[in-house]
Amino acid sequence: WQPDQLPSEAVREEYQRVVDEVRRHRHAYYTEDAPLISDAEYDALYRHLEELEALHPELVANDSPTQEVGGEVSAAFTPVRHLQRMYSLEDVFSLEELQAWVERATASVARLGGDRPLRWLAEVKIDGLAVNLLYRNGELVRAATRGDGTTGEDITHNALTIKDIPTRLAGSNLPAELEIRGEVFIATSGFRELNEQMVAEGKAPFANPRNAAAGSLRQKDPAVTARRPLSMFVHGLGAREGLAAGSQSETYALLRGWGLPVSPYFQVMDSFEQVLDFIGHFGQHRHDLLHEIDGIVIKVDDFGLQRALGHTSRVPRWAVAYKYPPEEVHTKLLDIRVNV
Ligand code: NAD
Repeated sequence: WQPDQLPSEAVREEYQRVVDEVRRHRHAYYTEDAPLISDAEYDALYRHLEELEALHPELVANDSPTQEVGGEVSAAFTPVRHLQRMYSLEDVFSLEELQAWVERATASVARLGGDRPLRWLAEVKIDGLAVNLLYRNGELVRAATRGDGTTGEDITHNALTIKDIPTRLAGSNLPAELEIRGEVFIATSGFRELNEQMVAEGKAPFANPRNAAAGSLRQKDPAVTARRPLSMFVHGLGAREGLAAGSQSETYALLRGWGLPVSPYFQVMDSFEQVLDFIGHFGQHRHDLLHEIDGIVIKVDDFGLQRALGHTSRVPRWAVAYKYPPEEVHTKLLDIRVNV
């Protein structure tokens, strides 16, 4: 195809086919908690869509999957509007792409950020599902899934059964209004036990901890959620009225002090070499952690610079997810070869 030619009928058809495929897989993954293909296969499909759009920008509609946060709001839950929008993350799949992203972000910071020092906060990318916890004066008032980023699903009763999620923050001078973004997951050890239990009860085991976590949190009956070994780590913020912190790392220290679970796997750094070391370290040790990861997230630590860099309709411009190459593993339980 020639980029300067009007797309032919065949290109339009191929584009529509890929859009429909991405939508079908998003529905299976986010709404049904039952993906039909591996994440690596989905990522390849999504990349193909991005490439088609780069070649034929005139095909890109406002509701293209590349312009939206992936999830949906199931009719089984009450919809709730987040105070501040929730975003996805831009993915890169090689260290070269990551370096190019870091160089672009550094150039933007130099343009926008004046003389603020640029520091990176690197942390593992937890393979779970995003939640938004709203605290008013330290009291948990609502928990929701990410949904389409603007509106999520009310899962407050289910969140109340997760011991990692405090119903009341400890301490004084708590922010008037605070949206905590975290990842709910099932630890590797808990996943093994849960699947053994499912099999013993004659039920189908979960394909992976991410599906188990999503299926367990998005239950109509909180008693079912309560029986599942769900955990959570905090990784971001939405509304933050009255929060006295200038960076992501300062915020983590405050949140930990208030009793919120902050991941032990993060580090603040000021060079790309340190970022590469972090990626190498967790690439080697990814199966020694408490939970599964599918990559490393690199964020600009300073809130002022985060604000200056801003967002697209789908992702923040101040963060990126480096995805590790897929591994082929043999799962004894399912006795099939799957990509994770
Ligand atoms: P994403 O999962 O690539 O990244 C965004 C999410 O990462 C955030 O919303 C947050 O919940 C999570 N996250 C975990 N650790 C984090 C941390 N430390 N800091 C910040 N965020 C962190 O994007 P997405 O839009 O949620 O989903 C896309 C991914 O989901 C795909 O890359 C694919 O792997 C998977 N997916 C798979 C299928 C399938 O059919 N298998 C379908 C849809 C999506």
